[in-house]
Amino acid sequence: MPTPKITKIEIHQFEYELTDLAHGNEGAIYKPGSTITNTACAIRVLTDVGVVGEYASANVFEFTGIATFAKSLIGVDALAREYVYSRIKQAARQQAEVGIAPVDIALWDLAGRYHDAPIHRLLGGFRKTLPTYVASVHASEHEDLATPEEMGDFAVQCKELGYPAFKIHGWENGRVDREIEAILTVRERVGDEMDLMSDPYNALQTFADAFKVGRACDEATYLWYEDPMADGGISQHGHQRLRDLLSTPLLISEHVRGLEPRVDFMVSGATDLVRGDVQYNGITGTMKLAHAAEGLGLDIELHSPGPAQRQCMAAIRNTNYYELSGSRAKGPNSNQLPIYTDGYSDQIDDATDGHFPVPQGPGLGVTYDWEMIQKRRTDLVVYE
Ligand SMILES: [Mg+2]
Repeated sequence: MPTPKITKIEIHQFEYELTDLAHGNEGAIYKPGSTITNTACAIRVLTDVGVVGEYASANVFEFTGIATFAKSLIGVDALAREYVYSRIKQAARQQAEVGIAPVDIALWDLAGRYHDAPIHRLLGGFRKTLPTYVASVHASEHEDLATPEEMGDFAVQCKELGYPAFKIHGWENGRVDREIEAILTVRERVGDEMDLMSDPYNALQTFADAFKVGRACDEATYLWYEDPMADGGISQHGHQRLRDLLSTPLLISEHVRGLEPRVDFMVSGATDLVRGDVQYNGITGTMKLAHAAEGLGLDIELHSPGPAQRQCMAAIRNTNYYELSGSRAKGPNSNQLPIYTDGYSDQIDDATDGHFPVPQGPGLGVTYDWEMIQKRRTDLVVYE
């Protein structure tokens, strides 16, 4: 087949429904029989040889940057992902590289279809299944996971389902006593065999609060302590000091955009594990970060579930867990879009012994429901 050239880029914005959920004070909550409507975007990259790349996500913001550079990609070699990545990085440097990920992921999907191979095979391939931790939805005072006891019940439920690890997403108002109680209760309830993590969601208002909650992680031997402080998880100095005082490894940098600032976080000793985010940095940027971490002797942990995350994790040695965030004790995972026709699932009941499979079809290895996307479309922008 000749080299495919990009002829057209389409951005489809559409609505989708999640059932058995309602809008609560702090996000979606479980409510049988109720429905919420959300917005997502899908990108299609078309070429002159017919091969197409696709990617869809509810991270609508990431698609907004594409307008800045889309037209400059028309006529470019669709297999030259490194060139496209570098070009967008430069074009979108004033907008924090917003827009790089959807295009990059769609081009990896396209390459997989062109070569008739799943992305993880193109990347090299390391593992066949993904050990997974359930990450609770954000705990909510009057709604889902209202108390440390309920968080403990949920962790036990996950242990019984076979998951090797569990992460607490803390409460919105960052009350220190409740965060500490949850950390200790969950450990007590699940015993020593399960890996546990705490992610207070940047809700702890002071350094001292973050230190106190971190000491509970030390006491209950947590595997990592993630984004505790209200700096938004971006202060290198603050996290260096916190790391000096605690024995639990820190996982910071989820909210630091781009490759270089995340590498700086590792080099400066402001985090132990680095956060990789396919939805912000694309597959190209995430694999660069994984290899940078490997070179420093550290691990990368990928943010949130999805087909692109699975393809990357399957090709990385120095990583531990697939993150099943958006999980709740009852009701559907709010991170999974109902847009697959092939049974792809990030629902809590669909793991096997706490592992999820790696899609084996070409590209991302999933089939999007284009009939539904077109039926529910609210906007279409075409660059050609
Ligand atoms: Mg997090």
